Amino acid sequence: MNSVDQAIEANRAYADRFDMADAPSRPNKPLVVLTCIDARLHPEAFLGLGVGDAHVVRNAGGRASDDALRSIVISAQILGTRECMVIHHTDCGMLTFTNEAAREMLGPAATDVDFMPITDVEESTREDVATIRANPLMPDDLAVSGWVYDVKTGRLSSVV
Ligand code: ZN
Repeated sequence: MNSVDQAIEANRAYADRFDMADAPSRPNKPLVVLTCIDARLHPEAFLGLGVGDAHVVRNAGGRASDDALRSIVISAQILGTRECMVIHHTDCGMLTFTNEAAREMLGPAATDVDFMPITDVEESTREDVATIRANPLMPDDLAVSGWVYDVKTGRLSSVV
């Protein structure tokens, strides 16, 4: 059985015991989280979030890319969130390459792509917090904080 088949089988079991039809579309907590796609990160578990509690935006690195900013603006301005956590992590795959290396590997179509690689996770966290804070579409009272998640301990450390 391939991974999609396994996922569909798991979904059938999930739907059989599903009891969250009344979860709100506005999150219970005014919280939006931006973090990495890394499979070792389970933000709902390490932040104690249940269904309906918060928005979680994920991309490679947990970077404040244009599309992440779009999601955070919608989360804050339309769906009422007021606290934003940027969570980068140790041993991130984004630490393992440069834009130049990625462009060389992927060829001419990648020439103008910024893959937003990371050289230092604390620095990238600070950078992305600053990008979100500086975005003119964000509400003035959005509290943005930056954290690093340690994949060896499961613990968050405050960066900014
Ligand atoms: Zn990562």
